[in-house]
Amino acid sequence: MTRWFHSLQFRLIVGFAFVLLLALATVGIYGNLAAQREVQDLRHAADEALFARIHEALTEYYTTGGNWSGVAGTVERVSYLTGRDITLLDRDGNVLFATTQSGNGERQRKDRDYTSSRIVVAENHVGSVLIGPAASRRTFRPYRGPDRFPIPEGTPGEIHEPSLRRFTDTAFRSLLWSGLVAGVGGIVLVSLLSRRLLRSVHRLTDAAQKLGKGDLSQRVAVSGRDEIGELTSTFNAMAEGLESAERQRRNMVADVAHELRTPLTNIRGYIEAVRDGVLEADETTIASIHQQTMYLSKLIDDLRLLAETEAADFQLDLEPAFLAEVVLRSVEGFRQQAQSNGIELTCDPGSDPATPVNQVKVDRTRIEQVMNNLLQNAVEHTPAGGRIDISVQEAQETISVIVADTGEGIADEHLPHVFDRLYRVDPSRTRSTGGVGLGLTIAKQLVEAHGGTISAESTLGEGSRFTFTLPTA
Ligand code: ADP
Repeated sequence: MTRWFHSLQFRLIVGFAFVLLLALATVGIYGNLAAQREVQDLRHAADEALFARIHEALTEYYTTGGNWSGVAGTVERVSYLTGRDITLLDRDGNVLFATTQSGNGERQRKDRDYTSSRIVVAENHVGSVLIGPAASRRTFRPYRGPDRFPIPEGTPGEIHEPSLRRFTDTAFRSLLWSGLVAGVGGIVLVSLLSRRLLRSVHRLTDAAQKLGKGDLSQRVAVSGRDEIGELTSTFNAMAEGLESAERQRRNMVADVAHELRTPLTNIRGYIEAVRDGVLEADETTIASIHQQTMYLSKLIDDLRLLAETEAADFQLDLEPAFLAEVVLRSVEGFRQQAQSNGIELTCDPGSDPATPVNQVKVDRTRIEQVMNNLLQNAVEHTPAGGRIDISVQEAQETISVIVADTGEGIADEHLPHVFDRLYRVDPSRTRSTGGVGLGLTIAKQLVEAHGGTISAESTLGEGSRFTFTLPTA
């Protein structure tokens, strides 16, 4: 239960209820005030119209008769019809007729709720009328004047002024009720919707907990395209990444162990054979042992380099450089080796190597490393009489370097894997030439760290073509 109080669903419901209360209170207070103001305005306007009528009736009476005699009946009738207490005064302020039971009119004269109005006929002040507030005449009484008029049967003894206040109260009550009904409906809806929403969150939490305990196979079904759906996709992608990283780590450890074992077994074999007197420790034996140790140190160097490039804090030392110049320098480093292997080595730097189009921001040492790995492979896999052509090609926003050879080529089934770690087309052969299967992996890492791409095309028996492309922007 306490868990529910801390849950998002509870907070959503409380939040909604709070917003609803606030909205209701605001609408209620404002609505009530507005209704009261309207009612007051309405009452005021109605009063003004009523006073004008009473005043007009009395003015007419005086105009017709020339004096106030016999006015009591008219005043009583008007009072009865309007529900207002009325007192008529003569020009000197003496009470001519007052409609209240108790009053001789004196009290009303001092009451500030009574509205006084002068009656003027032919520019002469002939009297004043005092009119009481609404419902000031509550009780029906037979009039006291001389002109009796018949009282209909069943006339109630007491007549009450309809209260406009009741109207505003009713309006306020209906508003409150409709607000409450909408609120309860809203809360039910919010709790249903949030339950549906939070089901996905609970599923994610479960999966994340299992993932944290090491079950990397955890995936959650994506429920929609909303934020939770996006979070679920991100979670799945993260789990996928973790699983594949873990798989790679395991494979890597196994592969490295395997790679270390073969040369070490060889070295051990040579040394034990020499110790047992089976083999002589002559130049050939020492050369074989040396070759195996060279292989081991190359493997360890490449592994260290790969680990360095894959580290999260791996940083390139970027500086503006002319790519064609960097390429030319690497090519020159291989000229001697190519010549002695009977391979023709050419380099086409594209446009003038020192033109702005050729300028890129690169880490020179790392790009030279990429070139060296590609050139080393080309030299190793191209027989005497073959050629290696290097060219630099500029495009709109990229610049590409192509290393093409006429060597042995790579079979289609191997081509997609040549950039994988420790992948070699012919392990036993390449091991003897010192290849550890990391050269292209390192090249790929370095090119991608520059924001570029690298690819390989090859036809078995005809040659291979490696292209890496860097952005110039
Ligand atoms: P290594 O360090 O063993 O050369 P790489 O990662 O550089 O490993 O290359 C992976 C594999 O791709 C090599 O075993 C090799 O057989 C093949 N390969 C790479 N470059 C070429 C090429 N230019 N011609 C033919 N095969 C190649």
